[in-house]
Amino acid sequence: MKNYLVLFAFNFFYYLTYAQEPVAKSNGQKENKTLEKDGKDPVCGMKVKKGTTFVRLYKEKQHGFCGKACKERFDKEPEKYIKK
Ligand SMILES: [Zn+2]
Repeated sequence: MKNYLVLFAFNFFYYLTYAQEPVAKSNGQKENKTLEKDGKDPVCGMKVKKGTTFVRLYKEKQHGFCGKACKERFDKEPEKYIKK
């Protein structure tokens, strides 16, 4: 019985932590995790297929990248690549 209570308490704590995560995220800026449609990498010009996880939401527009390197370059100076 004692073991069951410990297990229950642990699961309850885990549930609270897990359940609160989406709420915390919705308070911040909406960040899409995958690219919604085929696009173009603004840094190197490569075509990017939808579903990639290398995405960045910038000024309400979603940008996809071919890889982590391009995404990081974009993060450093987004204006440089957007104005093209
Ligand atoms: Zn690229």
